[in-house]
Amino acid sequence: MDLSIPIGQVPRIGEVLEKRLKKLGIKTVRDLLYHLPLRYEDFSNFVPLNQLRPRTNVSIRGKILEIKSRLAWRKRMTLTQAVVGDQTGAVRVVWFAKPYIIDVLEPGSEVIMAGRVSQGKNGLYLNNPTYEKITESGSPVSLQKSKIAGLMPVYPETERLSSRWLRSIIRPILANFKNQVQEFLPEKVLKEFNLLSFPRAIWQIHFPDSLALAEKARLRLAFEELFLIELFVLKERVKILQTKAYPIPIDLPSIQRFVKSLPFTLTNAQKKSAWQILKDLEKSHPMNRLLEGEVGSGKTVVAALAALNTARAKFQVALMAPTEILAKQHFKEVARLLFDFKLTIALLTGQEDKIMAKKLKGEVLEASRQKILAKCLDGQIDILIGTHALIQKSVRFKNLGLVIIDEQHRFGIEQRARLCQRRHSSEKTVPHLLSMTATPIPRSLALTIYGDLDLSIINELPQGRKKILTEIVPPRERQRVYDFIQSQVELERQAFVICPRIEPASSAGSRRPTSWNDVKAVAEEKEKLAKEVFPDLRVEMLHGKMKPKEKEKIMKDFKNNKIKVLVATSVVEVGIDIPNASVMVIEGAERFGLAQLHQLRGRVGRAEHQSYCFLLTDSPARKTQQRLKAMVKAEDGFELAQKDLEIRGPGEFSGRKQWGLPDLGMESLKDLVLVAKCKTAVKEILEQDFSLKKYPLLRERLERFKEKIHLE
Ligand code: ADP
Ligand code: MG
Repeated sequence: MDLSIPIGQVPRIGEVLEKRLKKLGIKTVRDLLYHLPLRYEDFSNFVPLNQLRPRTNVSIRGKILEIKSRLAWRKRMTLTQAVVGDQTGAVRVVWFAKPYIIDVLEPGSEVIMAGRVSQGKNGLYLNNPTYEKITESGSPVSLQKSKIAGLMPVYPETERLSSRWLRSIIRPILANFKNQVQEFLPEKVLKEFNLLSFPRAIWQIHFPDSLALAEKARLRLAFEELFLIELFVLKERVKILQTKAYPIPIDLPSIQRFVKSLPFTLTNAQKKSAWQILKDLEKSHPMNRLLEGEVGSGKTVVAALAALNTARAKFQVALMAPTEILAKQHFKEVARLLFDFKLTIALLTGQEDKIMAKKLKGEVLEASRQKILAKCLDGQIDILIGTHALIQKSVRFKNLGLVIIDEQHRFGIEQRARLCQRRHSSEKTVPHLLSMTATPIPRSLALTIYGDLDLSIINELPQGRKKILTEIVPPRERQRVYDFIQSQVELERQAFVICPRIEPASSAGSRRPTSWNDVKAVAEEKEKLAKEVFPDLRVEMLHGKMKPKEKEKIMKDFKNNKIKVLVATSVVEVGIDIPNASVMVIEGAERFGLAQLHQLRGRVGRAEHQSYCFLLTDSPARKTQQRLKAMVKAEDGFELAQKDLEIRGPGEFSGRKQWGLPDLGMESLKDLVLVAKCKTAVKEILEQDFSLKKYPLLRERLERFKEKIHLE
């Protein structure tokens, strides 16, 4: 038996539990072992019952004096009440919706409990505490031997899978699989970084002897992810450096003509980035460059310029966008920008009719997928724009020279690699790669996540853009926001209303496509706004589950100002360009990461109109307020990214969503010194043993890690 066996095959785990575990993303024994506690409850220092203070978290030890349960006012909910006493006094304990407790605890049971002390009308009580029984058939279990004293792990839970149950299942599994839990990091690395061994770390993270050891275990597991990230990235990097690319000469006259044809002048940052890219394209090994630029900073023009230069040299370009809407927008935009240059540009999205901008006239035609694929293969298409569809095997090029990936953090590292390793014809060359992102990743981080790739930063916005006025609004003031939208619409402006994400029962999945719950929320919001709030305005909705045709129609009508208010899921977050929109309302703002909020906000303020962003939240949590305040203050995405990194604690999933990284890895990325040291260590290992022959376990672990960071 090894750690990869399906969790369903473990004794005591039947089909039902297997399903529930799946919701947490746990499919194998290994997954379960890596299902880490969020925190621990301390059952080791008991507070005497006469010393309880309101609003404190305590553990207590005592005897159940009395216990009863009844249906509470809402009928379906059981209310269980008990009184626990020790030598010094007694306290009331209350549980909601835990009907089984009455069967487990009875008067006379010795218990330890941990929870929060609340102040009620009739004095203090413990509210929904965790409890452990320490009597077995009448005779007390010694605390030392008991499985329940000390630090108790608290796991991210889903409905009907309690921490208590997880604990009871993880412990025997850890014991049974002891021999399979093996160290895979090189000895030398363990020493150098003073890390706990894997078997010890995995035990200590679940059942720590002390908080200090739990922390050390966590560090070890975080380090291991960082190590694997570096290993993966550096290996890829070396592979790329060992390969060749076609040098693409700079066609200065065309570039000058292009720049002159623009209705605006390029910003200095745009010029600089464009130049860096052109210089890279000239080289005979593949470019691997990340173009980072604020939302609206004009990355598309830079991409178009690179595409033009490549096409002029008779090489093909693939431009990949994360969503269909965005792919279409790029298609239109690029076709428009390069209209004069007589290029053939095609759109391939996998779901849709394909369109072509035809040679000479810049005419846009529908074309069949087959036709596009054939033309692409024989080199007649200069620029192929699309979604993931571009990675499919059936898409082949005659001489792909440049791959451009927009909003690249949305694609897994693996996917990028796949598109770029695509060899054209039989030659051993790979195309140049330009990735673009509006998620401002602090430089140090970017270098880590994306290896030693080169970075171009557009750190200025085109002239004349105004700061987007941002405000945090409590829900009771919602009407004020609606009135404001009305007044903006009277000025011919338009508004976005973004619905919050509905979290699935488990947040374990990495990148979650729109769920039906999200759709329902959007539909309801749209109904409300259309019927009750803005009966005179055209309100429409946009979400990920709509048919491409419907989406397109909505986008078109919105762009033409026929739709005044667009209710959407966060699908609009990437790239949509509606210069006339001036109001962005984000419902449930606390559910979005800062970088994402920044992206959403960037949908407005794209033209000369003063624009506004309203962050609606009813969460009083300090961290939320802190984060949202950062949004109000900062205009600069880079600044926000840094803040996000600082404020965001472990266990929140936004980091993973934004950067495609596992949580723990994110944690260690904060420590830049550690990152640098880790990188050096990885480099050393790779220099001596590139294919990790000496470290079979590490190699195996790396393979699995790749699957994990493969996002879709
Ligand atoms: P992003 O970097 O977010 O992808 P876009 O490329 O979509 O931004 O550009 C946003 C808008 O700014 C577009 O309407 C584009 O035409 C315009 N734009 C780009 N560069 C400039 C510039 N130098 N001056 C003025 N407007 C520009
Ligand atoms: Mg863009």
